[in-house]
Amino acid sequence: MTDTIKTNAGAGPSSAAASPASPVLEVRGLSIDYPIAIGTVKAVRDVSFSLGDGEVLGIVGESGCGKSTMGLAIMNLLRDPGRIVGGEILYHGKDVVTMTRDELRAMRGRDIAMVFQNPLTSLNPLMKIQDHFLETIRYHKPEMKKADALKHAGDLLEELGIDRKRMREYPHQMSGGMRQRIMIALGLIMHPDVIICDEPTTSLDVIVEAGFVDLLNRLRKKYNLSIILITHNLGLVAEIADRIVVMYGGKVMEESPSSLIFHDPMHPYARGLIECVPNIDLDQEKLTTMDGSPPDLVTPPPGCRFAERCPKAFERCREAEPPLLERRTSLGDGSPGATRRCACWLYGEEA
Ligand code: ADP
Repeated sequence: MTDTIKTNAGAGPSSAAASPASPVLEVRGLSIDYPIAIGTVKAVRDVSFSLGDGEVLGIVGESGCGKSTMGLAIMNLLRDPGRIVGGEILYHGKDVVTMTRDELRAMRGRDIAMVFQNPLTSLNPLMKIQDHFLETIRYHKPEMKKADALKHAGDLLEELGIDRKRMREYPHQMSGGMRQRIMIALGLIMHPDVIICDEPTTSLDVIVEAGFVDLLNRLRKKYNLSIILITHNLGLVAEIADRIVVMYGGKVMEESPSSLIFHDPMHPYARGLIECVPNIDLDQEKLTTMDGSPPDLVTPPPGCRFAERCPKAFERCREAEPPLLERRTSLGDGSPGATRRCACWLYGEEA
């Protein structure tokens, strides 16, 4: 049970709630806008979290909650007209937001890599698979001989269950699952510390998706990878993530260890998402969907962004935004328990 409200966490760049001891990546107080003709889309607001060495962090929420915007910002790859308007993104303490173009080029792929949701649009249809690998390797290691680069790529592909001979083929000759594994291999080829997977299983069927989870788990252990898994699919993160950040309307609603969030979600939005996860043990008729849709981010509501859809909302929820507060969970066995964060008036009003 959650029993203590400790500090005001996530309220700005100085907060470091629920941080691993030595984070590889720290996002602090990040805010991102998209100025458009009808106003400014406040896509991400004051988001803070950190990623530990070898840790898998799930970022979940419905479509339009700001997850991809945040993933792209970490690589400093925001699409126009996206702008970071506040906060820091620290990779081993160095701010990605203020890196020079050359520093960014060197960082992408070598230190942090990204696997996008649609491999068919991310792979160049006119390039053989091997040329995708050669391009990346030459960029970061121009001194590597072509034969060595091909061997390196072939070894990695075979580790991912793809015959190295298939490197001579084009993306359209591969199945969806193979293309996804090729994208992962391309992400891993320079042995980055961090890999960001954005909706990695959207184009996969359920069986291939199960294989993907096993694969990610295996690679994580072998390469001591830190992984950010961005998805609307809670079932997917349940199987692999250590911690989960739940986003709604561009803000963090809850952050908890995944072992706790599925059994004891704090935020009503997290509970709602969990109740929507198909469970084979459940009678299909009992499955629920959440009514309504995420808020307009040009003119977000004044109070809690989830209030309009929240079954537990009361007056205060519509008047003022709840701060993201750090709370310690007592496990009832005398151990210090886990640190969780939640932005909800149900748990009190003190900072
Ligand atoms: P998610 O990944 O959770 O689906 P996104 O990060 O894609 O969410 O979107 C967050 C918000 O930013 C949404 O309101 C979306 O419409 C808006 N948005 C995303 N990209 C752009 C863009 N290029 N121009 C304007 N608004 C955008």
